[in-house]
Amino acid sequence: MKAAVYFDKGDIRYVDRPIPTIDDDEVLIKMQACGLCGTDIHKAIGRGVEPETVLGHEVSGEIVKVGRQVESYEVGDRVFVAHHVPCFTCDQCRRGAYSLCPQFKQTNLDPGGFSEYIRVPGLHVKHTMGKIPNEMSFETGALVEPVACCIHGFESINYHPGDSVLIMGAGQIGCIQIQIAKYLMAGNIFVSDINPYRLKQSLELGADYAIDSRSEDLVEKIMNITNGKGVNTVIISAGISSLLSQAMECVSRGGTVLVFAPFQNHLVPIPAARFFNDEVKIVGSYSSNPYNYTVAIEMLKKNVFNVNKMITHRFPLSQLNEAIDCAHSPEEQVLKVIITP
Ligand SMILES: [Zn+2]
Ligand SMILES: [Zn+2]
Repeated sequence: MKAAVYFDKGDIRYVDRPIPTIDDDEVLIKMQACGLCGTDIHKAIGRGVEPETVLGHEVSGEIVKVGRQVESYEVGDRVFVAHHVPCFTCDQCRRGAYSLCPQFKQTNLDPGGFSEYIRVPGLHVKHTMGKIPNEMSFETGALVEPVACCIHGFESINYHPGDSVLIMGAGQIGCIQIQIAKYLMAGNIFVSDINPYRLKQSLELGADYAIDSRSEDLVEKIMNITNGKGVNTVIISAGISSLLSQAMECVSRGGTVLVFAPFQNHLVPIPAARFFNDEVKIVGSYSSNPYNYTVAIEMLKKNVFNVNKMITHRFPLSQLNEAIDCAHSPEEQVLKVIITP
């Protein structure tokens, strides 16, 4: 089989790999679609992983082989599958922080999503795999994992229907969050970005205000529109740590800043008095957990998301380098990129 294997920065090779063999509690799937996540791009261009790693974790495909002990799936089933499984028994799991479980990151698909065939280990078969309805496309199925991550983010904050929301960063994740906020009956939805194409798309996906933070003063604009109150929820979906300072100026009394992007380990100044005086909260959210997948597939079934507008590019597995270049090029009109076999 073929797989797109990461060797070094800008060096992903389309190479032959043996088709994985499966154990009795495992299944083998033929990948049909795998989303290119921001974290894949981050790892590929930032030397974030070991050479010979196969990236990709937003997977959908068709089952081509089933282990003897697997009862709930059969050959031909169309499925989505995510890459990390918590143990459900450790101290983090006991407290509901499943993505912080020590087992979480040790579990993975074999060899990874950007591969023609993928071995799904027993734990994943049990906890992170699910069927895709016949009428749903594999591309839509590949959105289960990123949607689940965004649901996990909303679960982490004290969200109330009617809340105003500011999403900083209108990329592939910001676009999912706009639509979830709308589905959860948000009040005004604000989006900020520096990319005119993304700002335009975010309005079409349901944002009420799209603010170009290069040409407009974000804090001033938010304060004008909200009569000086600020927004109840600020979600940072761009990996720029300095946004935290700005977010703290945009959030209302009693509001929450949700950090939904990897930051550099910079020291960022924030107005410290706001915690006690205004009961402002800063919350972090990483990845998703098995309970989020059920909600994600239901939301996708109910057409909460405008998938056609969100998926802007498709590349075959043999062109993963090109796909990554495209996805982080400021010149491209790009949101979600899907890799096909
Ligand atoms: Zn992802
Ligand atoms: Zn655990």
